[in-house]
Amino acid sequence: MAFPITRLRRLRQTEALRSIVRETRLTPESLVYPLFVCPGEGVRKAIGSMPGVFNLSVDQAVKEARETHSLGIPAVILFGLPEKKDEQASGAWAEDGIVQRATRAIKRDIPQLLVVGDVCLCEYTSHGHCGIVKKGTAGVAQPDHTGAAAAPSRATEQYEIENDPTLEILARTAVSQARAGSDIIAPSDMMDGRVAAIRTALDEAGFQNTPLLSYAAKFASGFYGPFREAADSTPQFGDRRSYQMDGANLREALREIQADLDEGADMIMVKPALPYLDVIAAARERFDVPVAAYQVSGEYAMIQAAAQNGWLDRERVMMESLLSIRRAGAGIILTYFAKEAAKLLS
Ligand SMILES: [Zn+2]
Repeated sequence: MAFPITRLRRLRQTEALRSIVRETRLTPESLVYPLFVCPGEGVRKAIGSMPGVFNLSVDQAVKEARETHSLGIPAVILFGLPEKKDEQASGAWAEDGIVQRATRAIKRDIPQLLVVGDVCLCEYTSHGHCGIVKKGTAGVAQPDHTGAAAAPSRATEQYEIENDPTLEILARTAVSQARAGSDIIAPSDMMDGRVAAIRTALDEAGFQNTPLLSYAAKFASGFYGPFREAADSTPQFGDRRSYQMDGANLREALREIQADLDEGADMIMVKPALPYLDVIAAARERFDVPVAAYQVSGEYAMIQAAAQNGWLDRERVMMESLLSIRRAGAGIILTYFAKEAAKLLS
């Protein structure tokens, strides 16, 4: 059938018609709200590049979690700003670590709200990398392709993010978060083998029923910029391209997801969301597990900045971006817009 028998505009004439044929719907139940927890009391410190997002002391995080729950959002994910950082990321797995304390406080106050524990080391290491750093001789000249020695510089410093020694620390972090009451453990470091290491450690510690949501396809992205201000986790040297994924690779993303599922992940995540909608769609198509996507700080900041300048309709673009992530196939969306979106949806 073609025009004039077929007229696709027939079903777009009124909101009631548009609504009854709508294919994708957003609900507050699919959202997860990220919280940045810091030391102190009564602290509510604005993050410049993320208007509307704050560093919160534990008491304030509890208040925020209470509001999140009242809006019908089922989960928060916690990131920590420790009092001190060191090379071994000891703040990540300390029993009285900032995330562990916040988890206990939130679970005590609002037991029905799911607490997701982000497992990574970059917020807790003095160098800001997601793993243990093995440094070579700093400043040693590296031979270039002609065999001649290049001048020593920061750019030629040798360092390596050590994969296997990092796994043990990640596993210890995951167990300490589970002990504090985390409902879901979410490793975001991108080391090889971390899901298996964490699953084994959780099982040995008696947490066989704690599910894993792995940041399976996490791309090295410029869109993380504002988060690094929020979590104070900018690498002090180098970048994260030796462990986070190359933005050019879709097939490799599917291998990463397969590997994490083979190692015991219960749910997988694609991060960032908007620049990687094709990866979300391919993951949804290929794997029969819950797919999450993280609308990251830069995606949030872009919309906020444009709206502040009067260049975009904030609410409309916010909902459209979330809808696109949902339509691509993400059943779970981590977003700094969670509270506002939930208010508009109710
Ligand atoms: Zn990290």
